[in-house]
Amino acid sequence: MRHLFILNTREFRLDLRDQNIEQLKREPLDVLIVGAGINGAVSAAALAAKGIKVAVIDRGDFAGETSSQSSNLAWGGIKYLENHEYGLVNELCQSRNHLMASYPSTVKEIRFLTTIAKGFRFPAPAVYAGTVLYWMFGRFVTRRPNYLCSSEIKQLEPIINVDNVQGGFEYSDCYLHDNDARFVFNFARRAMRHGGMAANYVESLGATWRDGLWHVQLRDVMSGAEFGVTAKVLINACGPYVDRHNQLVGQQTKHRHLFSKGIHLIVDRLTPSHKVLAFFASDGRLFFIMPMGPKTCIGTTDVQVSSPETSVTDEDRDFVLDNVNRLLSLDKPLTKADIISERCGVRPLASAGQTKINDWTEISRKHAIDINAEQQHMSIFGGKLTDCINVGNEVCEIVGELGIALNHNHQRWYGEPSEFERSRFMNQARAMNLDSLLPKESRQPSPEPLSQRFWRRYGSNAMSLLERIVEDPSCGELLIENAAYLRCEIELAAQTEMIVTLDDFLRRRSKIALVVDRETLLASKGLLQACEILFGDQAQAKLDEYMALVQ
Ligand SMILES: Cc1cc2nc3c(=O)[nH]c(=O)nc-3n(C[C@H](O)[C@H](O)[C@H](O)COP(=O)(O)OP(=O)(O)OC[C@H]3O[C@@H](n4cnc5c(N)ncnc54)[C@H](O)[C@@H]3O)c2cc1C
Repeated sequence: MRHLFILNTREFRLDLRDQNIEQLKREPLDVLIVGAGINGAVSAAALAAKGIKVAVIDRGDFAGETSSQSSNLAWGGIKYLENHEYGLVNELCQSRNHLMASYPSTVKEIRFLTTIAKGFRFPAPAVYAGTVLYWMFGRFVTRRPNYLCSSEIKQLEPIINVDNVQGGFEYSDCYLHDNDARFVFNFARRAMRHGGMAANYVESLGATWRDGLWHVQLRDVMSGAEFGVTAKVLINACGPYVDRHNQLVGQQTKHRHLFSKGIHLIVDRLTPSHKVLAFFASDGRLFFIMPMGPKTCIGTTDVQVSSPETSVTDEDRDFVLDNVNRLLSLDKPLTKADIISERCGVRPLASAGQTKINDWTEISRKHAIDINAEQQHMSIFGGKLTDCINVGNEVCEIVGELGIALNHNHQRWYGEPSEFERSRFMNQARAMNLDSLLPKESRQPSPEPLSQRFWRRYGSNAMSLLERIVEDPSCGELLIENAAYLRCEIELAAQTEMIVTLDDFLRRRSKIALVVDRETLLASKGLLQACEILFGDQAQAKLDEYMALVQ
């Protein structure tokens, strides 16, 4: 019986991507979005909800590039206060607040404990005054900041080395509880729910503007098959590859991208407290030690690079490790051997023709949308996860101005399901004592109740997980140790999350590959079972493909 279910889920999964591609081939589009990072995914969700016939494609996985390499923060950009970008901070704080209110179980407030070293470019009380200003920009919706002397810091967080600290403070911002990539995928899923199309592993090879339509040549990366589609409007949301795609389709733009590389290292949990420890690193820039599930994520760097193709170098690792070892009093200094996993990406920064940059960090982190109204084309530059609702709304406005009717202009396109739906789910979860399943599955210090996790990850779909566990209690088993993913969740992912490679599941729909060390993960007996659920008779081949990728 279970075997049958597994086969069915696999067929359904294949159908979902294939169905989207088939539909793409058949139907002329109002809007085609190239690139399914945060900017492309929110644009698709917003346009689909407003009744536009829209498709979003990506040559890799959803959020396969920059949008899976961020610091996972929805933040108001406190560091931009130093560059006097008050307008940007004001906007980002509002965007953060809006996200927090719209996604109460995903975008969560977290305290930042920040220390200021002796001899820093500003005295600690002046920096603290900045946090009060920041709190005001945030309309006081978070907890208020508080000043701390070094003995209070030591008491709150004994791991911090206060030898060279003049003072510090706590203030609040937000983080994405699951991960950035899952947050992005949920927008692509939302676009599909509203009748939009979405497909990963479909590349745009280029396009021509003829007879008032874009004729776009696409390639299914998995099969190699090429096909054409037409769209009234073409949106370039290729992130760091926006300029390259514009060259392919002959677009000249006011803005261009500059690239700033950032890396993070994930190590075993350094402190039990659920706070972000923030410091100014040796290069004078903000540096974070953040909780990431059962592990700790450290970073980031901010270094100008000339191309989006980058990787973590030994120099990057040394920079991060040296700073952690200097800023914390650890029993044993962290070394490269302690690194469980790494993240690396480039921030695509919108530059309006600056050629001479005195201070790299002075480049504004604002997004910009360049429009070619004559050829119904737009290019999205820059942007942040935090800013995503604004980008979605702006894109809709521009598409409307380009003459495409938004039939359901007032339809809401983002946010969690209603409180009514949430209570219905929570009542059902309580009735079946769902949270008592948890001790089986985790050795985490303070595991989150399963009901909360299911709701946050699956929203309206969470109810089907309860039904599945009632039907077959073995679906409540944990397959991969410490992975915080039950069998029924993997089944649901197989059905609804367009997982094409094992990396899609382990690295982007979940954060398993970031928080479970590689040896444990690869040795886990449940990994092959997970592949069987995800890929059916291709399980071994997909596992081998993953092994080759990570070894
Ligand atoms: C180290 C780091 C930390 C960050 N921290 C934060 C943070 O904490 N909070 C925050 O709000 N922001 C943060 N950011 C910024 C944020 O992550 C990025 O601005 C955002 O993810 C960019 O999204 P995007 O959609 O423009 O690009 P991407 O996510 O890169 O998406 C572009 C997509 O286009 C696809 N593509 C390219 N060419 C083609 C083609 N020819 N055909 C089809 N598809 C194509 C790519 O495969 C890619 O998936 C951080 C960035 C970095 C690098």
